[in-house]
Amino acid sequence: MTDSPHIHLGSLLRTSADAHAEGELDHLSYEQGGQQQTLRFAEPAPYEVDVNALGGQEMYLQGHFEPTLVMDCARCLRDVEVPLELKLGTLLRYDPAVDAPYLEEADTGEEVLVFGDPDLDLSAYLAETTLLAAPLSVLHAPDCKGLCQVCGHDLNEGQCEHMAQVPVEEIDDELGTPEGSAHARQTPFAALRDLQLPED
Ligand SMILES: [Zn+2]
Ligand SMILES: [Zn+2]
Repeated sequence: MTDSPHIHLGSLLRTSADAHAEGELDHLSYEQGGQQQTLRFAEPAPYEVDVNALGGQEMYLQGHFEPTLVMDCARCLRDVEVPLELKLGTLLRYDPAVDAPYLEEADTGEEVLVFGDPDLDLSAYLAETTLLAAPLSVLHAPDCKGLCQVCGHDLNEGQCEHMAQVPVEEIDDELGTPEGSAHARQTPFAALRDLQLPED
């Protein structure tokens, strides 16, 4: 079990030998907006990546990642398991001046993961790919009744004294809007996507 997925690209950079890495993750930690975030997985999530040299400082990463992401039910917040099968594929560019890996859009419109440490930490890239593939919000059951807006009681487990005052339609309107939706799209590279980088 690896906590932080890495692929070692030092010898690829020296000799153009292909690189390979695989392992299993029980969670993914990554930084987003200066804060440490964690994606939880219901079971060890297997990943496998291959990197091929393209010449110069460029290379291509491909592989797959199969996490069972644990998300909160949008209405009652209990855990919901979301199995994902992700195909990985991105250009890489080595730039020794770069501190933390970031995604950049090439002239061709393709995304390029730019990195500076030959021991490439794939955490942010895998988290980004996972979050972009995950649904914005999930319900643990289609008819989830949500939480009482007054006392927070889980209405799936029966009514509370306030239930009579809260029509079901209103629950759907109020709680059906997943609070997680904004959060779910705050992916590791989201801030960078929004940055207006000066042309050079
Ligand atoms: Zn629920
Ligand atoms: Zn209540």
